[in-house]
Amino acid sequence: MTELYIAGAWTRPLAGGQRRIHSPADGSLVATVAEGTAADTEAAIAAARRAFDTGSWPATPARERGALLYKVADLLERDRHTFARAESGDTGKRLVESEYDIDDCVASLRYFAGVAGTDAGRVVDTGRDDAISRIVHEPIGVCGLITPWNYPLLQTTWKVAPALAAGNTFVLKPSELTPSTAILLMRALAEAGLPDGVANLVLGTGPEVGAPLAEHPDVDMVSFTGGLATGRRVMAAAAATVKRVALELGGKNPNIVFADADFHTAVDFALTAVFLHSGQVCSAGARLLVEDSLHDAFVDEVVRRAERIRLGGPFDPHADTGPLISAAHLAKVAEYVAAGLAEGAVLRCGGRRLDGPGHFYRPTVLDECKQDMRVVREESFGPVLTVERFTSEDDAVRLANDTEYGLAGAVWTQDAGRAQRVAGRLRHGTVWINDYHPYVPQAEWGGFKQSGNGRELGPTGLDEYREIKHVWQNIRPRPQRWFPEN
Ligand code: NDP
Repeated sequence: MTELYIAGAWTRPLAGGQRRIHSPADGSLVATVAEGTAADTEAAIAAARRAFDTGSWPATPARERGALLYKVADLLERDRHTFARAESGDTGKRLVESEYDIDDCVASLRYFAGVAGTDAGRVVDTGRDDAISRIVHEPIGVCGLITPWNYPLLQTTWKVAPALAAGNTFVLKPSELTPSTAILLMRALAEAGLPDGVANLVLGTGPEVGAPLAEHPDVDMVSFTGGLATGRRVMAAAAATVKRVALELGGKNPNIVFADADFHTAVDFALTAVFLHSGQVCSAGARLLVEDSLHDAFVDEVVRRAERIRLGGPFDPHADTGPLISAAHLAKVAEYVAAGLAEGAVLRCGGRRLDGPGHFYRPTVLDECKQDMRVVREESFGPVLTVERFTSEDDAVRLANDTEYGLAGAVWTQDAGRAQRVAGRLRHGTVWINDYHPYVPQAEWGGFKQSGNGRELGPTGLDEYREIKHVWQNIRPRPQRWFPEN
């Protein structure tokens, strides 16, 4: 059984708990791991606190911190296959997709390694000859990092890399469903030479491990990726200690297709937008908004191709996509589809699970959807595409922005001016023009509205994990005599 990683040592959970991880693809046992409780979380927070307050890491020159991250990237590259197999075991995701994810992790680590030492702050002109004023970056302290199950290592890397680059210590809590690559990452950090206590891993449930991270007075910052309801709870729990909070809470992302779009490319990407990883993607293009005159031909082609998508386990060479993460999640997705049908949506394909083992749900297209349907407004986080019609540019923008989320969206048109106009009006953190899903670590990632308040990747991704301090120094101190001396 794999244990918890606290203060640089693999440790048995105090209450002796353990959890079996079963493959979502066939139910087979893939791992048995420790299950920590609030007491283990307390111990991990204490270790991270000590490492921050008395350890060497926060004061290590930023460039050296970057050098360590480069080493971690090299280790992930060396062990790419081991990481990818572990990720696929827990998530059921196709091995090739897990391999891409590990490559993305390597790129993110290298990005934050590179920027770690490049920005030493700035000097401000005081307009005086007796004072110096500097803006400097400092680590925040102990970070609580809480990650979800859909991209377990990637979401973790997006937090761990900037947190370490900025000189923080942390306690990581991965989703209880997908702990395996977090364990491997701790081993890589240790092998790269990270001092004891800087990185701590507690496996366990949200209430036992996640909630204490949000509440604890010795945690200075909490970074959370997951569902909106849990994100609200994390923010409320963090309020008691006025912690810094970075949230990434998913989206209900519009994919807008105008009649002049390149038809076959737009169809192709409409499928990838929503059915990649069976829709378990925060930026999934789950809402297809299609211009009325194009609607019938476009949806027919999307349905035709969706029906051909093959489902299978991570090592099935014929599979196009994999299972949902759990039976409970499949039930939730099915409930959203049922709600959509009850509210008048037209089922064009899918709408059913596969018989047999594994949590497989067929790619589903719900046509003639309306903006007030639950399946249009809430994140099903499954392979469910809702289709709405629009009649004008204004109409498309209005529908696209009519959501409490604001993570991502796309616009498909060959009219260059319209592409920019629509992109400019969308209230979503990332807008793709004639594309869907690509990102680079150098660019920012973050949501508008209730998709979250944090930035990941890019320069401001690093700023999430830094305090910005103004240092003023009087270099010729002398009596001011503002008030009479005598
Ligand atoms: P949650 O938001 O419940 O879980 C995300 C993480 O938060 C997990 O590590 C979870 O632990 C932890 N957690 C749960 N409760 C608390 C708490 N009270 N305090 C602190 N941490 C907590 O997501 P789910 O996994 O249940 O998925 C639910 C929905 O969230 C999905 O259907 C989808 O809509 C959305 N989601 C969005 C993602 C995104 O990328 N934005 C990613 C994944 C899900 P544990 O797993 O142990 O419960």
